[in-house]
Amino acid sequence: MELSGNGVRNGAAATAVTLIPGDGIGSEVIGAAITVIEAAGLQIKWDRQLAGAAALEAAGNPVPDELLRSLRRTHIALKGPLETSVGEGYRSVNVYLRKTFNLYANLRPTHSFEGVHTPFRNVDLVVVRENTEDLYAGIEHLVTQGVVESVKVITARASTRIARFAFEYARHNGRASVTAIHKANIMKLSDGLFLKCARKVAEEYKDIRYDEQIVDAACMRLVTNPGSFDVLLLENLYGDIVSDLCAGLVGGLGVVPGANYGERGAIFEAVHGTAPDIAGKNIANPVAAILSGAMLAAYLGYADAARRIREAVGAVLRTGSVLTPDLGGKATTTEMTAAVLRAMKASTAAYGSAAAV
Ligand code: ATP
Repeated sequence: MELSGNGVRNGAAATAVTLIPGDGIGSEVIGAAITVIEAAGLQIKWDRQLAGAAALEAAGNPVPDELLRSLRRTHIALKGPLETSVGEGYRSVNVYLRKTFNLYANLRPTHSFEGVHTPFRNVDLVVVRENTEDLYAGIEHLVTQGVVESVKVITARASTRIARFAFEYARHNGRASVTAIHKANIMKLSDGLFLKCARKVAEEYKDIRYDEQIVDAACMRLVTNPGSFDVLLLENLYGDIVSDLCAGLVGGLGVVPGANYGERGAIFEAVHGTAPDIAGKNIANPVAAILSGAMLAAYLGYADAARRIREAVGAVLRTGSVLTPDLGGKATTTEMTAAVLRAMKASTAAYGSAAAV
């Protein structure tokens, strides 16, 4: 699942990365991710910035200029979830950042973990979600009292770009198929255009199987035969909903990482939100944030560190003795993070002694 930003890492010098702890459980899980990333040997100079509710409280602005300046400088961020008010209030900072920095591709690798018990086996799929348009264009207006309209924007340019991203990803990561998920039977023009672009791009990738499925049927197939999916290509809103469904297949939001990629940079963030129900209790599952950190490591060119982080997480889940409550255990965030660090140390030691033989 490697995606690397060539040339981002700059010899032995530490790479500057914007760090946005975020709201709710953000500081707890991002704190865990930083500890693991640093233990894996990444040389990073963190530029810590506030955003969302924390920034609103501290500086009266959910997207401070200082944050934007930092992102323009570093082009890379590790980010916790940000609170967005429902209904009236400021618009989503997540959406604002993705659009401002043109991070058009959201990638969410979702696979079963040995030791995490769910009714679903052998899930190994990747959600590729278009990140910049669709109903997230934020164009809503009051037509007359009691009637509002939300505009769904789909362009050939963004649809072609995300389709190409999905096929390139599939080709470079040994994936066999891309499934475009849509509702073109109802939204004939908008989803119709999305499909038309995907089909055209598919013609350039004869080595990757291409198929299509209506979103409701795809949801049904995801819970009856999730192993039959490989790379899923979706518009923004379907991508948001379907990726939470996919997280449910493999143990929940606590274990699924994510990243937003653009031409010039990337923001790494777990699929989950601020989880206000468990914030501040030291019981949030840090795995999703830690695995987002592994995606960051791969992007920066630290392929070996990324592999070691993933293997350590896999070992902790497989052993099953130190799990947070969402996975049926009693461990705290701190204890689970410590278990990942121990697993990483143990594998490094084992590798070291094997290499010395
Ligand atoms: P948002 O609207 O901010 O995207 P959401 O509606 O997707 O958020 P979350 O905040 O992600 O919702 O939380 C959904 C449920 O999943 C909550 O019960 C929450 O406690 C749980 N959850 C989310 N992340 C984690 C985590 N890292 N560890 C344990 N439980 C989590």
